[in-house]
Order: sequence, then structure tokens, then C-alpha cells
Amino acid sequence: MRISLAELELHRVTASESYAPGALDFHGAEFRQTAPLNIKVNAELLGTEIRIQGNLETRLEASCDRCLGGVEIPVRSDFDLYYRPVRTIAKEEEIEIPEDEMEVGFYSGDGIELADVATEQVILSVPMKVVCGPQCRGLCPVCGANRNLESCNCAPPQQDSPFASLKKQ
Ligand SMILES: [Zn+2]
Ligand SMILES: [Zn+2]
Repeated sequence: MRISLAELELHRVTASESYAPGALDFHGAEFRQTAPLNIKVNAELLGTEIRIQGNLETRLEASCDRCLGGVEIPVRSDFDLYYRPVRTIAKEEEIEIPEDEMEVGFYSGDGIELADVATEQVILSVPMKVVCGPQCRGLCPVCGANRNLESCNCAPPQQDSPFASLKKQ
């Protein structure tokens, strides 16, 4: 679904859409969508900027950074986004709104794809580091055993401890 500039010039646009797992391209991100993504937005034109307010929810699955086990990530995001036309960036160097107070994106052509808004928001809502739980013990660096499930008898590698060299002194 496309939020078209021509329509926004006439009135505000309300749109909602449901994307099944696999319908959106997350650009090779290391997670997969496991439930429909539902997005609702209100769009309006403010001068040449398109403001898109809305929310989305879905569920993702990613691998734990420590033990590689599956981690369920519920996503629920509220957003308030401003998109500027690409061609005006050069001549409008002065930006009145503090950059850190709102998110600004850019659009080109005759509007914005709702799928692009959804994709971007999902990618932004995934934490940089995914861990199945704070108690996750990860994989043994020596034998690769999942230490949440079994205990192996490997001695921890000496260089792993930042204090190993201090103790000798
Ligand atoms: Zn884990
Ligand atoms: Zn081991």
C-alpha cells in the first residue's frame, strides 16, 4: 500500500495493513517474523513534509548471541515520523527542529510505501544484542557445549580472565 502525495494534498490519510511472515524484506537482518505484522498509520502533509504517526505490532524470532538458541521478540512500536522530499535537502540546510527530538526520513517520488515504514520500524525496534535471558551461560568456548543444558569439564581458557595477568604480579 502506498501513501500517495497526491492524496495527502487533498486530505489526511488513514491506512492499516497486515503483512504475513515473509511478505516484508528485512534486508538480510538476523531475525525472522513469526506472526502477522499489523500496522496502522495516520499520515498528513505539513508543507512538503509527510508526517506519519502510528503503531505496529508483530513477533520476531532471533538467535541468542550467547547460546544460539531461539529467542522470541515481541515487537510493539509507536512512532511519529517525518519524511522530507529528497530533492529539498540541499537547499534547506537550516533545520529548525532539533534532530534528536524527532525522527526524520526522506521520501522520493510520489509518496511513501507503507511496507517501507513497517520494515524500518521493525529493524529499529530489535535490540543490538539479543540474549535469551540474563542468566544465559552461553556455549563453552572449548567444546561448544550449551552450558544452559549440560556442564562440561573443560577448564576455562586462561586468557579469558582479564585478571589472570594481575594475579601473577
Ligand atoms: Zn542464550
Ligand atoms: Zn566444554
